[in-house]
Amino acid sequence: MPELPDVAIYVERLAALAAGRPLEALRVASPFVLRTVSPSPRDVAGAAVLGVERLGKRILLALEGERFIVIHLMIAGRLHWKARGAKVPGKIGLAAFDFPDGTLIFTEASPKKRASIHIVAGRAALAELDRGGLDVFSATAAEFAARLRSERHTVKRSLTDPTLFDGIGNAYSDEILHAARLSPFRMTPSMTDEEIARLHRACIDTLNLWTGRLRDEAGDGFPEKVTAFRPEMAVHGKYGAPCPVCGAAVQRIVYADNEANYCPTCQTEGRLLADRALSRLLKEDWPRSLEELEDRRARAAPKARPADGGADPAPASAKPPRYSRRTPGLGKKKPA
Ligand SMILES: [Zn+2]
Repeated sequence: MPELPDVAIYVERLAALAAGRPLEALRVASPFVLRTVSPSPRDVAGAAVLGVERLGKRILLALEGERFIVIHLMIAGRLHWKARGAKVPGKIGLAAFDFPDGTLIFTEASPKKRASIHIVAGRAALAELDRGGLDVFSATAAEFAARLRSERHTVKRSLTDPTLFDGIGNAYSDEILHAARLSPFRMTPSMTDEEIARLHRACIDTLNLWTGRLRDEAGDGFPEKVTAFRPEMAVHGKYGAPCPVCGAAVQRIVYADNEANYCPTCQTEGRLLADRALSRLLKEDWPRSLEELEDRRARAAPKARPADGGADPAPASAKPPRYSRRTPGLGKKKPA
């Protein structure tokens, strides 16, 4: 699913192409995509776009009169910039936003139809759509540490939880954890101050690095190749390929429709997770699916925590990683 770097570039390009111009029309092609009743698309037609912002992984068009259109791409939603008045494509087309200089087409290449548009009036209504994830860029080290320690999870799960952190999903969490040389299975209460500081730094550096790369790629056009799998990634989508830092074969954990990747040498002291520990982890504390995490809204009060702060799940006995050069296991995966 598009994560912070992808969404940031959509926002920048959309701001360049549409801000300061009127939204001439919003054509809704799919009955499922619009999740609000009032204001209606007709109510906002003709309103000037004052700005384009990011709200977590969502894209927000701020219109005159304190009205906001919130676009959530979920997993398969994408945006395309076309000639003004372009037709909404039949099967995957959700909506079209007409501007004087072009038309933004919103598509979703999935039968699940999870992508959405909300149109709301007033900042208060907007706040209800905010998942409350911490912005890693503006957070102080203390705020980042407090948020990470606020719940007992694997660090992989905490990073990808939109109610804890903003804009980080499966792909960039793999890259961030590799940059921080931290195991994705690490339980957050057992992390040291130094490790947490390293993780915070890695979040900022990795997201900045990729936002810059995607910005260069988009240039003054529009991002059309939005994918979670990129050749320059260190570990994400690189199962079996050599780690760019140490050369060890990248490992994977397959769960739900997702795959997470890590380098055992750089991140887990050469250890692979034993089957039993892995199945326990997948059952209890791994993002079962990103959709599920996205859907979680209200959070229960924090549960009582074990006094020991929680050890990491037992690793497999120091089994050396296999350095096989297998074909990356991506053949069956569709770009998310
Ligand atoms: Zn490595």
